[in-house]
Amino acid sequence: MATEASHVSGNPGWQPPLTPARSPRWHDPNWHPGKGQRGGECQRVACDNRNAYWFNQTNGQYYCSSCARTFNEVSRRNGQPPLCELHAPA
Ligand SMILES: [Zn+2]
Repeated sequence: MATEASHVSGNPGWQPPLTPARSPRWHDPNWHPGKGQRGGECQRVACDNRNAYWFNQTNGQYYCSSCARTFNEVSRRNGQPPLCELHAPA
């Protein structure tokens, strides 16, 4: 099976990714075990923060406090109830 790096293997400046978050598949949810799950990784595609304890009531996924705050701020501005609620660890 060809690797995703094969097309850049001729580039001497290229270094293999150090972490999954830096890999070419960083945007692939399947690359992140526990993504979107309570206490796992934030569900937001562009975010790899851990400790996702904010429950998004519209899609049933969990987000980090930073992303949840952003969502809730948008809801507040639109006069809607908060999108995410904190399901803190016991
Ligand atoms: Zn996040």
